[in-house]
Amino acid sequence: MSQLQRIAIAPSQLQQQQIFLTKEQQHYLGRVLRLREGDRFIAMDGKGKSWLAQLTGEQAQLLESISVETELPVSITLMVALPKGNGFDEIVRCCTELGVTCIAPVLSDRTLLHPSPQKLERWRRIAAEAAEQSERSFVPTILEPVTFSTGLSSAISNLSLVNSQQYICVARGEFPHLKDCLQHQGQEKIVIATGPEGGWTTQEVENAIGVGFQPVSLGRRILRAVTAPVVALSLITAACEV
Ligand code: SAM
Repeated sequence: MSQLQRIAIAPSQLQQQQIFLTKEQQHYLGRVLRLREGDRFIAMDGKGKSWLAQLTGEQAQLLESISVETELPVSITLMVALPKGNGFDEIVRCCTELGVTCIAPVLSDRTLLHPSPQKLERWRRIAAEAAEQSERSFVPTILEPVTFSTGLSSAISNLSLVNSQQYICVARGEFPHLKDCLQHQGQEKIVIATGPEGGWTTQEVENAIGVGFQPVSLGRRILRAVTAPVVALSLITAACEV
């Protein structure tokens, strides 16, 4: 079972026990992986359900539901100031592999990139591919980019009912290390924010602290804007995974 290829499907592709594969999925399964009629693969809905499936011509049939237990016991929202170039693609890919639940791209005062609408679709595709590759049962949600202040407000309004911790990674200053702050016992949700190449402004850090974020360090070295989210996620998974 573990060697079978995984494919993320949208709810609209599933009717009764039949999967209506997209042209890209047919091409991938048939031409790239060379699967034939009767060959099996794993279909996942990206929301926690997975099935053993079998190719039937150009479509596929669900055979049985399977249990996939690769998710972390805590929900992690990564709020990340968009880095320049294609750096965000790498963040989405690596943090999906590490188990992130939701990625909220934000435009901070020093953000240089203002992404086109097509970027969101691309990031969601990368998240689905990385979830398939890392054998997850959930595909992380990638939110539409918003300003940092809007991102802070919505992060806080979504936290009211859960046991949560909020951190903002700050590259310079005397802040406690994230690894020493993580209290994984009974935590339901972690929100963590990382800044752009130029760093957060003092005002942004103060605004985050004002709504309950704790400033933290990721160590004594200054990490690139693309490296910092991956390090933060790695520390959280190491602390929370049972
Ligand atoms: N230009 C900024 C400076 O010189 O202070 C550094 C910004 S750093 C390239 C980009 C982001 O990564 C920071 O805003 C912060 O969120 C995170 N980061 C990088 N290194 C970090 C560290 N050692 N501790 C905490 N956060 C760090």
